[in-house]
Amino acid sequence: MVRNALVTGGMGGLGEAICIKLAALGYKVATTYSPGNTTADEWLTRMHHLGYAFKGYKCDVTDFDSAKACVQQFNAEIGQVDVLVNNAGITRDMTFKKMSKAEWDAVVHTNLDSVFNLTKQVMDGMTERRWGRIINVSSVNGQKGAFGQTNYAAAKAGMHGFTKALALEVARHGVTVNTISPGYIGTKMVTAIPQEILESKILPQIPVGRLGKPDEIAGLVAYLASEEAAFLTGANISINGGQHMY
Ligand code: NDP
Repeated sequence: MVRNALVTGGMGGLGEAICIKLAALGYKVATTYSPGNTTADEWLTRMHHLGYAFKGYKCDVTDFDSAKACVQQFNAEIGQVDVLVNNAGITRDMTFKKMSKAEWDAVVHTNLDSVFNLTKQVMDGMTERRWGRIINVSSVNGQKGAFGQTNYAAAKAGMHGFTKALALEVARHGVTVNTISPGYIGTKMVTAIPQEILESKILPQIPVGRLGKPDEIAGLVAYLASEEAAFLTGANISINGGQHMY
């Protein structure tokens, strides 16, 4: 059976790997891109040349109506959403002392409100059809906190509570809800960190001794999306090279 998947932020580092992995497994895949993204067409063309016929929908995940319009477009062009990967996210790191309300809001709206905004559009259909997968991309820093990330850690930790509460509500309807918490993965979110800080502060925290690869995250998402993962719900799966064992 061909399943359909919607990945938010699919044009970013992790999202691209997730889209490619799901497409390679036979899912019909669409991604959102943010209103500020000026290279969405280039990305879609590059993917088409690689053999992936992804659809891309402009969507501000912080905006409920934008999320609604995006899912309506998906329903009209592809069909029902069977798998939703809430992957879009941003950081605005700074100490709490320096953090403005705008920086707090941007991070909480993009990483956490987005999960409500998108999940709300797809859940009734999933429970009616008695099959669905919600996969939320959190972070190790939502589990353990991180200096300069009160906004990000709070938003990512919020995903864990959302996941557990919603998993309870929809378990009997064939829908699973899970969170994954990646550690440091080699995407632009992390490679933007100065090399000297990466080498002196970040890599020494990772027992595996390297950054994670986007494909390694995509493989876990693919498992959670699969038929075999039907008994796995309400979980948070750490995937961090041993950095934080919890
Ligand atoms: P990227 O910055 O590469 O991608 C983030 C994506 O989020 C972008 O594609 C962007 O879309 C999208 N996005 C941001 N704001 C909005 C918005 N308002 N509306 C719609 N889309 C938006 O980051 P990564 O791929 O590294 O991260 C993906 C997820 O994984 C994030 O949630 C991040 O917090 C999490 N994560 C990443 C880790 C890492 O080490 N890289 C570690 C732990 C967690 P567009 O490109 O269209 O602007």
